[in-house]
Amino acid sequence: MALTGLEIYKQLPKTNCKDCGFPTCLAFAMKMATKQTTLDVCPHVTEAAKAALESASRPPIQLVAIGSDEAEVKIGNETQLYRHEEKFYREAGVAVRISDTLDEAAVAQRAEAIAGLKFERVGTQIAVNLVAVCNESGDGDRLAKAVAIASEKTGLPCVVISAKAANLAKAADALSGKRPLLYISDPTEAEAAAKVAKDNSCPLAIRAESLEALAETSEKVSAAGVIEIVLDPGTEGLKATVEAMTTIRRLSLKNFRPFGYPMIAFTGNSDPNMQIVEASTYITKYAGVLVTDLIEKWQILPALTTRQDIYIDPQKPVAVEPKLNAVGDVNSDSPVLVTTNFSLSYFSVEGEAESSRMPAYVLAVDTEGTSVLTAWASDKFNSETITKALKASGIENEVSHRKLIIPGFVAVLSAGIEDESGWEVLVGPKEASGIPNYLKKQWKA
Ligand code: SF4
Repeated sequence: MALTGLEIYKQLPKTNCKDCGFPTCLAFAMKMATKQTTLDVCPHVTEAAKAALESASRPPIQLVAIGSDEAEVKIGNETQLYRHEEKFYREAGVAVRISDTLDEAAVAQRAEAIAGLKFERVGTQIAVNLVAVCNESGDGDRLAKAVAIASEKTGLPCVVISAKAANLAKAADALSGKRPLLYISDPTEAEAAAKVAKDNSCPLAIRAESLEALAETSEKVSAAGVIEIVLDPGTEGLKATVEAMTTIRRLSLKNFRPFGYPMIAFTGNSDPNMQIVEASTYITKYAGVLVTDLIEKWQILPALTTRQDIYIDPQKPVAVEPKLNAVGDVNSDSPVLVTTNFSLSYFSVEGEAESSRMPAYVLAVDTEGTSVLTAWASDKFNSETITKALKASGIENEVSHRKLIIPGFVAVLSAGIEDESGWEVLVGPKEASGIPNYLKKQWKA
């Protein structure tokens, strides 16, 4: 938990020497509490005070890095139970599972399919960012070969799953320098796996049959020198897993140190549709890593979409630049659609305009990132703002007609826009999905 200014002040020398650039130690402490300065700026703080402050200000959930270099995935460091209280910081890693019982060609083929699980959504790329290799064969050499192929073919950091610490050691050796997340599924092997993780500087995921046993194992693994730990509550099924993960998250935020780590969850339902539900639920309810068998694009997209939505800062509207955009090979007869600069609204309109195959202009009006109806209700999307954006966009030089298509939900603005701009207003569909049909049937320059 964050320290208050007074808690920090108690640990400072209280000499008010100003060497830090602040007039008093209290002023420095207050700035430090709001993260506007850091402890190293004070040259006089004692080692004991430094240790006390660092330990007290340690995030309640440990930061864990999986992989290396550009492909690194960082999880943990979260501070909230509910995202509306602040935000969730580090997106869950999503891993698709490969069994090492497959032959080498099949491992490579599945890995290539995993590498292709990438989508463009509201202007951002969302993708599977981990690959999990499961030691179902029980053979260490086979596991090592499979992880090497999976890593090479996907270019993604690996989660290596085995019941045997010795097999994890072989996989870690095959992925030397790539910092895979080692997952030991047999709790009796946890301490041996801790040694493997420590020797190879890898994070370690542990599981246990109960939360009490998990806390004990976590303490043992931590005492063995592993700092980056990931927890699996060892539950099966949606209800039990969500309950256990919520309990762990609550306790970690209360500074219960054995649970102060991110979590890993597995989808396991035999019905792929239920796995989709599991995946999205676990991402919402605190999984730092999700491991799934979902490999079809239509199956994995809901989980990636959920992840994207959950990790957006709810206090900051997601906006695009307010400007005129050309969709397709526009000409002077192209239709002009207007919407707000809320990214979901904008990209919905842009996407539908694109799929209509009729080149069009889309004008995004600055509504501070709010959607059409919200912006209309708060008077940010009105005849004045739309006209202003229209004039500033330079569209009058681009098209020969003077027709503007507005969203159906704000048909009431038609007369006002016509009066202010001199353009003819056409009332478009209420939902963006109606745009292709509307353009096809109703647009005439
Ligand atoms: Fe206080 Fe340290 Fe700043 Fe001096 S440098 S005023 S001791 S916080």
